[in-house]
Amino acid sequence: MPVQAGDILQLIRSGEATTRGDLLEATGLSRMTVAQRVALLLDAGLVVETSAATAGRGRPRKSLRFNHEHAVVAVAAVDTTHTVTAVTDLEGRVLARERIEPRVADGPLPTLSAISESLAGLMTPDLPPLAGIGISVPGPVDPATGRPSEPPIMPGWDAYPIAEHLQEHVAEVPVHTANDADAAAVGEYVAEFRGCRSLVMVKVSTGIGTGIVLGGQRYTGADGGAGDIGHVRVEHPVPTRCMCGASGCLAAVASGRAVAAQLRELGRDATAGHDVGTLLRAGDHDALRLTREAGRRIGEVLATVVCVLNPEVVVVGGDLASTSLITGIRETLYGRSLPRATRHLRLALGSLREDAAVIGLNRVVVDAEFGPEAVTARLP
Ligand SMILES: [Zn+2]
Repeated sequence: MPVQAGDILQLIRSGEATTRGDLLEATGLSRMTVAQRVALLLDAGLVVETSAATAGRGRPRKSLRFNHEHAVVAVAAVDTTHTVTAVTDLEGRVLARERIEPRVADGPLPTLSAISESLAGLMTPDLPPLAGIGISVPGPVDPATGRPSEPPIMPGWDAYPIAEHLQEHVAEVPVHTANDADAAAVGEYVAEFRGCRSLVMVKVSTGIGTGIVLGGQRYTGADGGAGDIGHVRVEHPVPTRCMCGASGCLAAVASGRAVAAQLRELGRDATAGHDVGTLLRAGDHDALRLTREAGRRIGEVLATVVCVLNPEVVVVGGDLASTSLITGIRETLYGRSLPRATRHLRLALGSLREDAAVIGLNRVVVDAEFGPEAVTARLP
């Protein structure tokens, strides 16, 4: 395939090429063709060329970089009890953000209306044009339609046309929908673990999910079900009913909802993962103990994931992310995995907390809207 302007931009975005000389070398194109393609990108405002002073004599070295101020991306990271909305530049820098509190259980309309209103307020007229919207939801997303697919903890959201709603109420731009753990996995990858070949993010909030990034790309599976470990059956001393309707799911004993229920029996005021997080930060002894126990149960299931994928990194995030949770995971994960699969495994707490999905969604939108095909198709 011929190397088009979109491919040139990809080389610049990824940092593989920062000068015209690098582009000549990377593409094998003639000097004139590279100049034409770069001119297209410069004219479109997608790339900027700057002169850097060089040591000694000679012409200043000109370098090319992706123009992060070319456009903005709006994102909404939906969780069960709150949503973070943000406007970001093309590098993932957060220019404005807001935390709103629609409950996902109230259905799609109240949540999406609150998001539309919030984004309208964040997108001030001085900002560059909007390139796209990214939204993550705490449930599986059908990759073919971009709509939620039978999400167990999102009543009323199954197959809801999220993109169409946002296009009607926010702006007529491309909308990309992702599962929340998938988005968070991409965010952690971009911010902390760039270059690692395989990363698994386990998100423990009101539900439990994992996101997988392989070779820098999120892996969602044939039907968007990859990493949905919350409803894997585990041994239960007492069969506990899960939100999905089945009995014996991991989420029924080890999710934020499950730990909250156990804490409620001990007299604490807790219903969602967020409440458990608050108690953990306050040093509540029972919250610490029960979260560690939840970690042990999660580690049992995660051992299979680790044996299948042999990832370099497992990142732990979500409301319950804490030393207690990771200690519990470590206790069972290593014992139940083959030594080869954990020999170089890095098990770490995510550093971005709820911004993980924000950064990840930004990257999903930028990769799609500024990827090689999309850019080549847009340019003359
Ligand atoms: Zn279940």
